[in-house]
Amino acid sequence: MEKYDLDKLNELDIVEVLEAMGAKPSKSNKLLHCPNTNAHSHGDKHPSMGFDKGKNICKCFVCDLSGNPVTVATKHFNNDFKKACEFLHETFGVPYLSGEVSHQPHKRIQPPKPKGKQYWSFDSNKKFAKVLIKDFLPKYPNMSELQRLKLIYTFVYRFSLTTDQRGKLSWYSSRGLSGSKFLEYLGFLSKSDIDNLVEQLLKYFSLEELQRLKLLDLVGGWKYGYNVVVVPSFDLYSDMIEGFMLRYTDNRPKGKEVNVSCTDISFPLPFGLGRKTLQQCKTLWLTEGHIDGLSIATQSECFVSFAGTYSYKEEMLGLLRGKTVIVAYDKDKAGQEAQTVLIERLQKAGVNYKIASWDAKDGEDLNDLLVNGKINKIQTI
Ligand SMILES: [Zn+2]
Repeated sequence: MEKYDLDKLNELDIVEVLEAMGAKPSKSNKLLHCPNTNAHSHGDKHPSMGFDKGKNICKCFVCDLSGNPVTVATKHFNNDFKKACEFLHETFGVPYLSGEVSHQPHKRIQPPKPKGKQYWSFDSNKKFAKVLIKDFLPKYPNMSELQRLKLIYTFVYRFSLTTDQRGKLSWYSSRGLSGSKFLEYLGFLSKSDIDNLVEQLLKYFSLEELQRLKLLDLVGGWKYGYNVVVVPSFDLYSDMIEGFMLRYTDNRPKGKEVNVSCTDISFPLPFGLGRKTLQQCKTLWLTEGHIDGLSIATQSECFVSFAGTYSYKEEMLGLLRGKTVIVAYDKDKAGQEAQTVLIERLQKAGVNYKIASWDAKDGEDLNDLLVNGKINKIQTI
């Protein structure tokens, strides 16, 4: 019997935990709408859930939902401690105490969700803004939280495009992707690039903000490793980004990819899903990671790649209405389970879909198929 890593579970961001339990953001940056809607009149229309990011705890001023991530999840699951741990473990992919990820993947536990999802839609008439960072730096102190997030993440991303890109190019070429036209959208950061980047960030932005945006650690150092590819999540209505993924190029066995975002401010779109894709593509491949996306793109196909099997917001699937999507998740057990969940959600969102099918001995994922010269053997059903 595997043990849950309670310390790690309690390090999960309290706001992300509450949101996973169904809490909705409010106009205030200090309050959420409580997920325990039944205990509130009008489903907590006036937000009552306060939180302390520093202490990583929360307290509802009306019902008794409060505490750190494990405590609050336990209360949410009617004091079922085990179910609460299982929920946090599965939802956020936290390894067991032994360091193992699920041996026998559990059934995915769905937190109770309010009815009537607000699916996102794309307004093709809305103006597209091209933003020069230097024009906005002087305005930074007066910008909204979301604008500051976009400015700073875009600053990091554009910096990563100006560095020596050889580490990136050689890594993608080892995956059979040296000819990909999408490589120009990916950045690269070596150790010295990061030293330089951190120095520049601290010149323009406050330490507190850079910590809040999960870029710098408590002592002001870069929070992640180096020799990383920067995979952007674009905004639909500007050339800025709302988050990014860092992909390590050292072929480490675990933790190869880290998402950098603040989902309490903005939930970033997956790589590949942007204005151009929505305007120009009728058919879109949905892949588990950006490498599979780049692999199918070598066949002149459009793609949307999720960074991690469950790291997309269900409401986002509304953007895919009117398209045909081809679901092409990995053929391993985790991939197939995630695919089942995704298909249910696509059906619920009213999105047409097909499933990519291939002989598993030709490869487990799209990149295997590309490398093995079998990518043209895929059938869609
Ligand atoms: Zn409450």
